Amino acid sequence: MPATRHLPTSESEDLIALTREIAAKELAPRVDDAERTGAFPREVFATLGRAGLLTLPYPEEFGGGGQPYEIYLQVLEEIGAAWASVGVGVSVHALSCFPLFAYGTDEQRARWLPDMLSGERLGAYCLSEAHAGSDPAAMRAKAVRDGDSYVLNGAKAWTTHGGKADFYTVMARTSAEKSRGISCFHVPAGTPGLEFDAPEDKMGLMGSTTATVRLVDARVPADHLIGHEGQGLSIALAGLDAGRLGIAAVATGLAQGALDTAVAYAKEREAFGKAIIDHQGLAFVLADMAAAVESSRATYLAAARLKDADRPYGREASIAKLVATDNAMKVTTDAVQVLGGAGYTRDFPVERFMREAKVMQIFEGTNQIQRLVISRHLAR
Ligand SMILES: Cc1cc2nc3c(=O)[nH]c(=O)nc-3n(C[C@H](O)[C@H](O)[C@H](O)COP(=O)(O)OP(=O)(O)OC[C@H]3O[C@@H](n4cnc5c(N)ncnc54)[C@H](O)[C@@H]3O)c2cc1C
Repeated sequence: MPATRHLPTSESEDLIALTREIAAKELAPRVDDAERTGAFPREVFATLGRAGLLTLPYPEEFGGGGQPYEIYLQVLEEIGAAWASVGVGVSVHALSCFPLFAYGTDEQRARWLPDMLSGERLGAYCLSEAHAGSDPAAMRAKAVRDGDSYVLNGAKAWTTHGGKADFYTVMARTSAEKSRGISCFHVPAGTPGLEFDAPEDKMGLMGSTTATVRLVDARVPADHLIGHEGQGLSIALAGLDAGRLGIAAVATGLAQGALDTAVAYAKEREAFGKAIIDHQGLAFVLADMAAAVESSRATYLAAARLKDADRPYGREASIAKLVATDNAMKVTTDAVQVLGGAGYTRDFPVERFMREAKVMQIFEGTNQIQRLVISRHLAR
């Protein structure tokens, strides 16, 4: 049963209806195969771009959807419920557009943003390095000014859409100052010296390609610097606050998908002469799953409304990411339990949901890092 939503306008109701239609027609028929083979669904992002669903939170004047986060995240949740890899991809694309949108010059925005926001050009976000994940200020990738260019060298690990994207939003060091020595660059695919390792062999999210991006004397014109030198880490962290809300929404969708599968199965499957949902011990598991999904949704929506009201929301974004992804891990694990032996097979999607939920607790700041952010707010 799809989530019950209390949407503020008929336009937002239409957006959710459109998303459900595209999820049923375009995502559901492809997801199983792509997740088994690891095929990257580039055409799905083009479809979402054409439908106006890829960049909903950006203003219409630049080609975005002009929607508040409260609506964008619910659309993202619906996409995540149908296909987590695509939900993550939409969220990462929105994240990779953020620095240019928020810190770019008018000229840079006019040049690049329309294609990025229409979905013509898919983005990737390169912050992490092999030795600098939770602590990005430890990054070593360098950008050295050389005349009218910057020359970039280093390796950005774990890049979602690495090798598949059309542009890379890259953080690299322009000075030795730890957190104030990092800058942000727009690096188009096809830049000589932009190279990619083979995709990571992951336990889930196979439809989302993850690869190390190598910068080998990769030269970009000086006007590809976004913001000013030294501003890169604060740009990256500002983007992550919003990105964490995206991951919270995708995780909530994943949990909703697991709940729906478990409830449908529990109504059909019989044991001891009645449907297993009529055994209170099992029905209570389902009730806890439903309560967790609703709590996740309420938590990310509360943070989204703060953001939409231009109020500080970093602490609430971390809480939403922590709550929604821990809930997704619990709900998807319980869904496997509800399906019994069948849940442990690939005949049903719940084992995949469980594998996909795990990474939600890891990327865009592990849940330990979310606790660090929340506890620092408490200590202020
Ligand atoms: C599938 C996938 C896609 C990704 N996509 C991207 C992407 O598109 N762009 C990008 O830049 N990055 C991406 N990442 C990287 C991701 O953000 C990092 O993996 C994550 O931030 C954790 O960094 P790490 O793996 O280096 O773990 P580490 O930082 O080495 O952490 C290891 C463990 O130590 C814990 N830990 C570390 N520091 C502390 C502390 N201070 N207190 C308590 N515990 C701590 C962590 O929580 C974790 O449990 C992706 C990762 C994955 C798996």
